[in-house]
Amino acid sequence: MPLETHSRFGVIGDPVDHSLSPRMHNTAFADLGLPYLYLPFHVRAAELSRFVRRMGRTGLGGINVTIPHKTAIVDHMDRLSDEARRIGAVNTVVLSAGRRVGHNTDGRGFILALKSKTGRSPKGESVLIFGAGGAARGIAFALAQAGIRSIVIVNRGLKNGERLAMDLKKQAPHLSCEAFGLGSRSWKGHIGEIGLIIQTTPVGMDGRSSLAIDFNQADRRAVVCDLIYRPTPFLKKAAAHSLKVMGGLPLLLWQGALAFQLWTGRRAPLAAMEAALRS
Ligand code: NAP
Repeated sequence: MPLETHSRFGVIGDPVDHSLSPRMHNTAFADLGLPYLYLPFHVRAAELSRFVRRMGRTGLGGINVTIPHKTAIVDHMDRLSDEARRIGAVNTVVLSAGRRVGHNTDGRGFILALKSKTGRSPKGESVLIFGAGGAARGIAFALAQAGIRSIVIVNRGLKNGERLAMDLKKQAPHLSCEAFGLGSRSWKGHIGEIGLIIQTTPVGMDGRSSLAIDFNQADRRAVVCDLIYRPTPFLKKAAAHSLKVMGGLPLLLWQGALAFQLWTGRRAPLAAMEAALRS
């Protein structure tokens, strides 16, 4: 248990002001009567190493990690959970006996969120994922483990997409896996075969921009997800085509509940956390 001497937790990111994690976790601590505080920390890439080294000294027992640090922080961990090692990204750090242990709760959180929000299981699904960063990696590995049939990765930088495809193939050799650059037209021909479309890039955070996708071609059964908390133009477009949609809040809730359990050893008060996110 990491909590003998620590009473503070937090989230690091750049940007981090948008994060709803402080509201959610502070509500959870209060609900269970735990005397802990959760704070946002604006940490730029150049400051990451120093921040992580000093974590213990600043009284932190653990942190969440958000854009853009999930993959870079891996090198600063003393130990990684099997899941985080496989994924190559960390979204939750536990400081335990002075050692920094990196975990990843995004993937399992996504699958729990999908089930609770849409009733769908990923088993046997064909997936299209936009992005190949830390969140995409966590989700793609969890989906591969959950038995999806195929995955198409579309990323701005083709190299990162290809790296994710290669890493997935190592873990799941029978998985059909292809990577395309966002600017290529080739991925568009796959849209009609896809059961689960997941948008993991920050495009749409501004409430105006959107990736270009023609939902007219989508399977009517397809579920469309966007990891951004507020409904994005991408998600609104999908909903306007009568497709089932899931925004970022259910994932925030479930990945946060798993992190809470790692830090406190207590079951997360889901109802209180969800109410905090909706208030
Ligand atoms: P990350 O590791 O920095 O990855 C960002 C990804 O987005 C990369 O694939 C990057 O492509 C792509 N990208 C960045 N800017 C882009 C642009 N202008 N156009 C097209 N693609 C772009 O970040 P992350 O940690 O995966 O987080 C990604 C998003 O998911 C963030 O918005 C974050 O807030 C959200 N998220 C939400 C939850 C939740 O609980 N709801 C959980 C995790 C993440 P390149 O490889 O080409 O750089």
